[in-house]
Amino acid sequence: MNQCTAVALLPPPEHVLALSVPDRRPEAGHLLCELGEGHDEAHATLLWDEGGRPGSAVWARWRAGQVRLLPLPWCAVRDPRNADAACGLFAGHPSGHDWEVTDPTDEAITRELARRHPHLFRR
Ligand SMILES: [Zn+2]
Ligand SMILES: [Zn+2]
Repeated sequence: MNQCTAVALLPPPEHVLALSVPDRRPEAGHLLCELGEGHDEAHATLLWDEGGRPGSAVWARWRAGQVRLLPLPWCAVRDPRNADAACGLFAGHPSGHDWEVTDPTDEAITRELARRHPHLFRR
């Protein structure tokens, strides 16, 4: 399945603004949903992960312009094609696991790079 195309703006939090130089305010960051298209529940993107400890990954979840930041545990399901790779989404996520979700833009870029630089893509 293709990746969800939802985008949201995350304004810099107050404590980041407090640290910034007055005439160089940080801009809002763009959030791109990482879930598979057609999912239910709120959109989601991983903001940061501090070393894989339980609850160390902070996700932004949004719906109707309201963004919430939440520490969420990892999805424990492993990729059936590669037992060393766990799903890169959070536990209980809607829609497919990360290996079932493809980003069409990423795929198109990879195809173009493979066309221009075939020696880098030889198997
Ligand atoms: Zn989404
Ligand atoms: Zn998963």
